[in-house]
Amino acid sequence: MPVSLLGAAEIRRLAADLDVTPTKKLGQNFVVDANTVRKIVHAARVTASDRVVEIGPGLGSLTLAILETGASMVAVEIDHRLAERLPSTVAAHGVPADRLTVIDADALRVTELPGAPEVLVANLPYNVSVPVLLHFLETFPSLHRGVVMVQAEVGERLAAPPGSKIYGAPSVKAAWYGPWRLAGTVSRQVFWPVPNVDSVLVGFDRDAEPRGTEEHRLRTFEIVDAAFQQRRKMLRQALAGVLGGTAAEASARLEAAGVDPTLRGEQLTVDDYARVAAS
Ligand code: SAM
Repeated sequence: MPVSLLGAAEIRRLAADLDVTPTKKLGQNFVVDANTVRKIVHAARVTASDRVVEIGPGLGSLTLAILETGASMVAVEIDHRLAERLPSTVAAHGVPADRLTVIDADALRVTELPGAPEVLVANLPYNVSVPVLLHFLETFPSLHRGVVMVQAEVGERLAAPPGSKIYGAPSVKAAWYGPWRLAGTVSRQVFWPVPNVDSVLVGFDRDAEPRGTEEHRLRTFEIVDAAFQQRRKMLRQALAGVLGGTAAEASARLEAAGVDPTLRGEQLTVDDYARVAAS
């Protein structure tokens, strides 16, 4: 059932009503364009049978587009005024209130959600986009796919393959959970206020089987952090501290894992890192 979505005038009216002046600190750039939110929901392939989680619903632009599909959802919003108002905005647009649960909380600290969310859809607050994504992937194994809007630089990094300059610790950590892809670009003009960075959509599909245990993941991430802290150094040097204490010991461990110790961190896939962590 088509739902009337939020436009620029209503967004401004709602914000004025709530006395909300968008802040940079909370990454508050609200989408004022119905086509953009429908495009995000379409890219995420949301259907009526999905249980969706949205991080940072703000005034409800994307929330209404998600609900328009018939899906049920949970929305996690840190700004109390926005969290409090969301149910009435949704009701005013004709959506049954029982399909939305609002959690008034910092998404970085959320460890439980009602139902097991399956699909993540969000226009993420840019200052915490990577930590919040990794936190949700780690905390909610039921999340099996998602599409999020992030700063272009961050999205390109998340989807970067090994060997490129922008491939870094976030690329490897995100890949631990499954493949990522760029899923479209978004014009600055669809936001209020207009941000001074470009945005992209980035999507993921979680692998059917986890790549390893929690202990294995933590060890892998420790090694990834060490490799990229000194990304210009060869792995035998960069990883000496975390693989035995000396370059010789690190070399032996890398070779045992089938990795050339003279490579640099940006040349390894997540599977290479996982093997090194298991060595
Ligand atoms: N989804 C809305 C839209 O597309 O118009 C708003 C997106 S805006 C880029 C980011 C939203 O995330 C804001 O509503 C902000 O208050 C909220 N936010 C910021 N930090 C957060 C956090 N740590 N946990 C939950 N929400 C957060």
